[in-house]
Amino acid sequence: MKITIFGTGYVGLVQAAVMAESGYDVVCVDVDAAKIARLACGEMPIFEPGLERLVRDNHAAGRLHFTTDAAEGVLHATIQFIAVGTPPDEDGSADLNNVLAVGKAIAATMDGHRIVVAKSTVPVGTCDKISKIMKLTLAETGRKDLTFDVASNPEFLKEGSAVADCMKPDRIVIGTSNRETEAVLRELYAPFNRNHEKIIVMDVRSAELTKYAANCMLATKITFMNEMANLAEALGADIERVRQGIGSDPRIGYQFIYPGVGYGGSCFPKDVRALIHIADRVAYDAKVLTAVDEQNRKQKSVLFHKILKHFGGDITGKVFALWGLAFKPNTDDMREAPSRTIMEALWQAGAKVQAFDPEAMRECRRIYGERHELVLSRNKEAALIGADALVIVTEWKAFLGPDFEYIKKALTHSVIFDGRNLYDPEVVSRYDLDYHSIGRVQFN
Ligand code: NAD
Repeated sequence: MKITIFGTGYVGLVQAAVMAESGYDVVCVDVDAAKIARLACGEMPIFEPGLERLVRDNHAAGRLHFTTDAAEGVLHATIQFIAVGTPPDEDGSADLNNVLAVGKAIAATMDGHRIVVAKSTVPVGTCDKISKIMKLTLAETGRKDLTFDVASNPEFLKEGSAVADCMKPDRIVIGTSNRETEAVLRELYAPFNRNHEKIIVMDVRSAELTKYAANCMLATKITFMNEMANLAEALGADIERVRQGIGSDPRIGYQFIYPGVGYGGSCFPKDVRALIHIADRVAYDAKVLTAVDEQNRKQKSVLFHKILKHFGGDITGKVFALWGLAFKPNTDDMREAPSRTIMEALWQAGAKVQAFDPEAMRECRRIYGERHELVLSRNKEAALIGADALVIVTEWKAFLGPDFEYIKKALTHSVIFDGRNLYDPEVVSRYDLDYHSIGRVQFN
């Protein structure tokens, strides 16, 4: 089977590599010429565990091709995936320019029937918009007789485990009411649907909404737990005990109930805001989602306020070791990462940061460039040297078992601000370190 994928980001590139690994002949199209050139040389533009080998092997085997030429992609296959970015517009709505540009490009060059599959996260009604622009383009170019169908196939991979998620998806949502399209997509996904039935077929609009509903549910779960953590702190309770107490209920479960410094990344913040906007357009006041968005923005500053309070409101000239820049472990993605809110607040207040992250150093340098208030340290120990305090923002495995004696010796002020509740407060207190975490009684 042949497929074309537009967009070589976290979704498009991973999907392409996994499909090629299954034996399909895949062409990847991107407008970013530098990215395509790097990929063609076997250089990864992003970090995802297992991705580099898949891309290199399948490229070498001739099953994975990279191009900036949209026409080449359009002529390659009947199945055309759209996996381009849908960044937020200024008002929070999803910007569909990239998605519609691909629809137009497909219609402008296609020479036979095409199945266009929207994998990008797009508002309800977008597949209809793609159809409209394609019809218009075909009419304008005098090729009205050519046929196509637009299906929705939202992606549920998680950054950090994207390859594994695509290889073994929990579910494959296909939004189409066209039997032929359904049959083709069932055949395409057959290698990923072997152990038990994972394909869920529904109408296009329900599939489009399913993606937003999933992300908004997860964002709500995190935010609810953060609210409980803030409350626990005010009431003298321990959120970690509460977490265990409620997670043991199978209706609630242990996943996504870790308190922290708020969710970030390229999806949850953008998708929550986009769904608020979608609701607004049908005159529905999405109160829960609005509260989730507001509360999450506040939560990103919780650790900074603890820092400020600890130092009596003045941190001018202080140096903070910061462990963790990526918005979550196993990725180099810093889009909307809490680390950015915290670092920027520290700089604003006159402090400096010595940061370390196992994967996101290059991305941090790309975002912030050279600046005197930011040092990118070569490892987590080096970040501590000469620092007043340690601030933990991302729960990387490498931070789970630190040498507390070394931390105590290296820091001027013997204090840890932990935004991810990585340690047992009682254990930390044995090393004579002050320890501030989220939603727990403070030991010092
Ligand atoms: P990304 O920003 O990493 O990559 C998008 C790519 O699309 C870029 O390389 C860009 O150059 C390319 N592009 C833009 N316009 C193009 C065009 N006209 N033709 C060809 N390429 C074009 O984005 P991503 O994280 O891969 O996300 C893509 C979509 O999938 C978004 O809608 C996102 O919400 C959704 N999604 C993302 C994730 C995730 O974890 N990142 C998970 C599920 C769904």
